[in-house]
Amino acid sequence: MVTSKTLTIESVNPANKEVLGEFPVMSESQVKEVVDGAWKAFEDWQIMDFGKRARYILKLRKIIAAQSEDIAKLISQEVGKPLSEAYASELTGTLDTCVWLADNAERLLKDQMISLNSPILSTKQSVVAFEPLGVIGVISPWNYPFSIPMMTILMSIMVGNTVVLKPSEKSTLVGIKIGDLFKEAGFPEGVVQVVTGDRVTGKYLSEAKLSRLIFTGSVEGGRKVMQQAANGIVPVTLELGGKDAAVVLPSAPVKWTARGIAWGAFTNAGQACASIERLYILKSKNSEKFLDELVNFTKELKVGPAVDPNVDIGPVIDQVQLDKIKNLVDDAVENGASILTGGGVIEEHGGFFFEPTILTNVNNSMRIMREETFGPVLPVMIVETEDEVVDLVNDSEFGLTASIWGKNLKRAEDIARDLEVGTVYINDCLFSHASPQLPWGGIKQSGFGRSHSHFGLMDLVNIKHINIDAAGGSSRIWWYPYGPSRIKMMAGGLQAFHGSFPFGKLSGLCRFVSNMAKKPK
Ligand code: NAD
Repeated sequence: MVTSKTLTIESVNPANKEVLGEFPVMSESQVKEVVDGAWKAFEDWQIMDFGKRARYILKLRKIIAAQSEDIAKLISQEVGKPLSEAYASELTGTLDTCVWLADNAERLLKDQMISLNSPILSTKQSVVAFEPLGVIGVISPWNYPFSIPMMTILMSIMVGNTVVLKPSEKSTLVGIKIGDLFKEAGFPEGVVQVVTGDRVTGKYLSEAKLSRLIFTGSVEGGRKVMQQAANGIVPVTLELGGKDAAVVLPSAPVKWTARGIAWGAFTNAGQACASIERLYILKSKNSEKFLDELVNFTKELKVGPAVDPNVDIGPVIDQVQLDKIKNLVDDAVENGASILTGGGVIEEHGGFFFEPTILTNVNNSMRIMREETFGPVLPVMIVETEDEVVDLVNDSEFGLTASIWGKNLKRAEDIARDLEVGTVYINDCLFSHASPQLPWGGIKQSGFGRSHSHFGLMDLVNIKHINIDAAGGSSRIWWYPYGPSRIKMMAGGLQAFHGSFPFGKLSGLCRFVSNMAKKPK
């Protein structure tokens, strides 16, 4: 919540509305000063060898592992997720990233030699080097307040960049903790810094002198950030929302699949960009049985404050989010949807709780099937054919992930190749954000660019091409002077390589050779 008169933001525990702290909305000049500091730090950090940077990162890993319980509790307190989720989706991925980068970054960013296949370029040798870009701005959301910024920061600094992070105004405490962890690990001043504030501070950061801006958040925020960064021609990576679909094939084991889908829909109270937000069950003798199993399992899930270790689903982040979820469910019901379980706000705990909800009698024209709900709500359709299912999954403005569930892996993979998304899981969902080796990102309004993996590293470096010619002194056929015989020679050469066999090539070769010795003009 922003308190406008004092320009501060409050962090609020969503499980009981307790105010956890108040922090400054940093001004334009403060953000500029921090970015200037990051450029200063870049001077030395960029030339440090990989081994030394890896040692800093491995030291950080030790510190995070030692404090993992406190970090998990802090995350749980500030954004409401159960501790199991804080460990699995926030800490594991971050720690794995430290190890993966320390073990692999140098190898993945080694110079690459490139051979040129044209004989007229035979004296040349190309080398591609991967160099740090400079200062990376990271603007992050509250739903994974630790792992999302952390994994991006680690990737950025491992390749020699420095970072300024603007955490979400709804998870400032976790953001500040991230900055403190880097300090404790002894990183040189300015390598990783945190600026606090809301979207106004985010605006200042996206307008600052950056080498790249990595934004994770809503489509609306991403669109604005892209415009703000455009003035400085700052490239952006956008990791935006999703309306991710799951497809259940007739071969899917009923019980096991129902558990997997329920987790994908309700983990983090449904507030994951890659949550399962639409379910399509291919019609079979099992489809009704599957739906019953899913509903019964959902009824068993325990909703409440995450201080209770038996809780499966915590609160949603705030009143705005709660109202949005309720509004989408009500809209679906008004348009003919039926509630199989859930559907309402839970008042008893005093925080922002919503029942895990399953809806049927929905169709792709309803808002609940098109807009990101970001809550524990799963609308379900039973569909007749595979072709129809592919069309329904692709009938979305979003394209982040999808999942297909079934034992017939060949069918599942065939369908996977037809889906317009960045990741398809077969028999799982969501997990891969925490695997640093795997590319993460979407298409359509889910954004562009990739984070994590070798491909993510490529977005964080200047891919510098250096071409060396060993034959200094000899002229090039594309240099001046031009003239009729030069044109004939080039036309002949082109046919000799690319013309039809044998006559085109032979006549081309003759024209090339006969004009080679002539003066161009
Ligand atoms: P949000 O867009 O409201 O805010 C995200 C961050 O951007 C915050 O730090 C916010 O202060 C900042 N911000 C917002 N508007 C800005 C602007 N105009 N200029 C600069 N900064 C601005 O999103 P949120 O509510 O924090 O996060 C939820 C959204 O994030 C969902 O849509 C979710 O799907 C998406 N998300 C995507 C991924 C992914 O990997 N694709 C991961 C997590 C969350």
